[in-house]
Amino acid sequence: MPWDLLVRGGTVVTPAGPVAADLAVADGRCAEIAPGLAGEARETIDASGCHLLPGVIDSHVHFNDPGRAAWEGVASGSAAVAAGGGTLFIDMPLNASPPTLDGPSFDAKLAACRGTARTDFAFWGGIVPGRVDRLPELAERGVIGFKAFMSDSGIADFPAADEATLAAGMAAAAALGLPVAVHAEDDALTRRLAAEALSAGRLSAADYLASRPIEAETIAIGRAIALATETGASLHIVHVSSGAGVALVAEARSRGVDVSCETCPHYLVLTADDCRRLGAVAKCAPPLRDATEQAALWEAVADGRIMLIASDHSPAPATMKQSANFFEIWGGISGCQPLLGLMLEEGHAQRQLPLARLAELVAAAPAARYGLADRGRLEPGCQADFSIVDLAVARPLEAAALRDRHRLSPYLGRVVRGRIRQTVLRGQVIARDGEPVGPPIGRLVPGPAYKASPA
Ligand code: ZN
Repeated sequence: MPWDLLVRGGTVVTPAGPVAADLAVADGRCAEIAPGLAGEARETIDASGCHLLPGVIDSHVHFNDPGRAAWEGVASGSAAVAAGGGTLFIDMPLNASPPTLDGPSFDAKLAACRGTARTDFAFWGGIVPGRVDRLPELAERGVIGFKAFMSDSGIADFPAADEATLAAGMAAAAALGLPVAVHAEDDALTRRLAAEALSAGRLSAADYLASRPIEAETIAIGRAIALATETGASLHIVHVSSGAGVALVAEARSRGVDVSCETCPHYLVLTADDCRRLGAVAKCAPPLRDATEQAALWEAVADGRIMLIASDHSPAPATMKQSANFFEIWGGISGCQPLLGLMLEEGHAQRQLPLARLAELVAAAPAARYGLADRGRLEPGCQADFSIVDLAVARPLEAAALRDRHRLSPYLGRVVRGRIRQTVLRGQVIARDGEPVGPPIGRLVPGPAYKASPA
């Protein structure tokens, strides 16, 4: 029987390291990976001079669909993911309207993605006050975990989880066998510092940065770890921005607490100086930090204390990114498309991060963390999700190359590495040279507590 696809002559980045090999695909899965494969295939791609990397699993994006698709949308967001070498995005629960807090809102988001998403997709459910009893129905529908905010999310119908809500949410998630991800910044401290700045008329980017100190992050991480220890929940700290934050997570892990953390490309390649210089396009929370923190994060990325990297792609229309008062500007950095290219340049080329480790950070680790057993690795039997990349090409990012809706990026002009020739999902090419191709074939990837509804 002929293979569906044979990719010849490339270097396959396997979990053990890069190997010169052909890759054969059958029924959407990697069938064989070996040099000089002989056999018939319906389609053949010559990958000479290129690397095959596992498809990026971006486990933290805000596509705002349904309800706020004008901020991004699944069509444009997934096109950007595919153009950047991604094959799966995991959408956060807060920016859709309604937010993903129960079965009907999950169904609405699924309807927005079906027939629209160019990559596969999975969903986070939300933990907010008064709605913890809805977590089981979200689990059954297939969320891969639950997200809570420990500070103001900026979205009125996704309020922060107070201590009691977070504890109850963690206990419920533990019973369902799903992880809880938290945005860890202390609400009381950030609120007080912001109020002080505003009342004194200190409204600049620098004033905003000063209102969200590292201490706000470490207080919240410490509290989340204590609650996870009490409730037995599996805890994930999203977008850690500081060495001290990473250290708290590592210390808890050494005590046997099930806690992991991620960071984002913006904390690894941009600093507080970039926020002061670029303004709104580089506003996020926690905010960009100084070079000392950045160096600490790179160290933790290399040694495994930071388990995974996600974009936290969080766009908004240009009108929401303008104000004389920096506190009023919508926070969030767009970065799902350049994630891989930034890591290839700044991680691999500049800091000698091995390709296998890089692939683990953006594909194998999120797959493992969220219970997606057969993804994120180029091994026989795994889903055939990968990109074919010419690593010799490195050039400054241009707005015209971006496929997200607003193309507002703090990375413009910064070198990204790798011409992503093809992105392949289940053996089918979904993007070629930065352009999405073919119909949207994305499917829901359900989490481990999914119960198929009786047909
Ligand atoms: Zn986020």
